[in-house]
Amino acid sequence: MKIADRNHCTGCGACADACPPSCISMALSEEGFLFPSVDESRCVECGACGKACHVLNPPERHNPEKAFAAWALDDSVRTTSSSGGIYSVLGEHVLENGGVISGCRFDGDMVLKHELGDRPGCTVRFRGSKYVQCFTDGIYRKIKNELANGRTVLFTGVPCQVAGLRTYLGRPYENLIACDLVCHGVPSQKIFRSYLKRHRLSPDPDRSVVAFRDLKGWGDFYIRVSEQDDLVWRSDDATNEFLRSFLSGYDYNEACYACPYACMERTGDLTLADFWGLGRSVPFDKDPSNGCSLILVNTEKGAKLLHAVRDRLFLEERTTEEARQGNGQLRNPVPRHPMRDVFYRMEWAEIARKVNYGNPSPLRRLLRAGRRKLMSCLNRGKGK
Ligand SMILES: Cc1cc2nc3c(=O)[nH]c(=O)nc-3n(C[C@H](O)[C@H](O)[C@H](O)COP(=O)(O)OP(=O)(O)OC[C@H]3O[C@@H](n4cnc5c(N)ncnc54)[C@H](O)[C@@H]3O)c2cc1C
Ligand code: SF4
Ligand code: SF4
Ligand code: SF4
Repeated sequence: MKIADRNHCTGCGACADACPPSCISMALSEEGFLFPSVDESRCVECGACGKACHVLNPPERHNPEKAFAAWALDDSVRTTSSSGGIYSVLGEHVLENGGVISGCRFDGDMVLKHELGDRPGCTVRFRGSKYVQCFTDGIYRKIKNELANGRTVLFTGVPCQVAGLRTYLGRPYENLIACDLVCHGVPSQKIFRSYLKRHRLSPDPDRSVVAFRDLKGWGDFYIRVSEQDDLVWRSDDATNEFLRSFLSGYDYNEACYACPYACMERTGDLTLADFWGLGRSVPFDKDPSNGCSLILVNTEKGAKLLHAVRDRLFLEERTTEEARQGNGQLRNPVPRHPMRDVFYRMEWAEIARKVNYGNPSPLRRLLRAGRRKLMSCLNRGKGK
């Protein structure tokens, strides 16, 4: 039995799904990261786990042929998604045509897990990036069954999960479409739950939505908890320590700092991301302030799916070089933060002191709101 070592294991879960006697389970490290735990007394030394491990057997990857700036024309989708709402548009198209989609959401114990959905409208349940490591929870086996039954499956996940799916399957399937996300790295779910506890938040996932991005402006990262459209809590600059640590790379799974997928060679048929840096080198004359995605088209299958939904999207072709220049995670992994070694042993109060801006003065808040409004007006003036 040979699988990736702990420092290189991304916790994708493919080895666990591949083990015929199911003697691998995904356990949690002290920091809360997923890793395979093998019951060696039941291991039959078949080698299936090693074959399914994308670290040992990297799957084929593709350089993007095209790049687009894009967003959903339906504003209710665009403004409730993390970027431009492309995931929901692709997902609904697949569902309307009898296919199945994957997505992740918090279960009743606030554990983020992948699930399958096959009812039109179910993209809402999975919408939005959750900046923590997601438990794949047997999803690869379920996908293999659906594929074997001839259904189209759209899988979306971070690139190591797409890689895990491909090595688990072991061969290409015409009816599988995979979208990878450009990925910064993942903190553990344990640290996120402890952040919620610190702020005395105990959202009930059946009634509440926990969002990691703000709806007010694309590019704003704040934790929001809402219930039936009513805002229950929103972090501010003084309580945003979870997202600040995340964005600075304090708290990722060890493998993320040497991520082999932080480059232009992609594991998905399509890649979805924020279009950071859009218009910096070549002017862009639309208003992206309600959310703008980058779509990289990596395979013919990806191109076909995008073509099928073109009427539901604003789409403008850009260059792959502009995408690469604007998005650091298409060039390199996030460097390991010098505080990483001690981060998981630190108290939140100490972390907050190091990473938060503190409470901005009312004047600073006003200036910030004014600047946002001005940028939005200027962009709108350029023509929406
Ligand atoms: C951990 C993480 C790090 C990211 N880092 C970057 C980055 O550095 N740069 C960048 O440009 N974009 C990054 N993204 C991608 C970005 O946040 C958007 O998810 C992407 O642009 C798609 O947005 P959307 O509006 O089309 O759809 P959304 O509705 O936002 O799409 C959500 C999709 O992502 C899936 N998803 C959500 N959370 C997770 C998770 N933890 N693990 C696996 N799948 C998940 C959902 O199930 C759904 O399929 C990251 C996303 C994640 C989850
Ligand atoms: S070698 Fe086979 S039986 Fe043993 S852990 Fe790996 S997959 Fe399971
Ligand atoms: S298959 Fe995934 S979870 Fe298993 S050892 Fe490899 S990287 Fe880790
Ligand atoms: S940074 Fe790489 S290894 Fe870490 S979760 Fe993202 S894709 Fe996986």
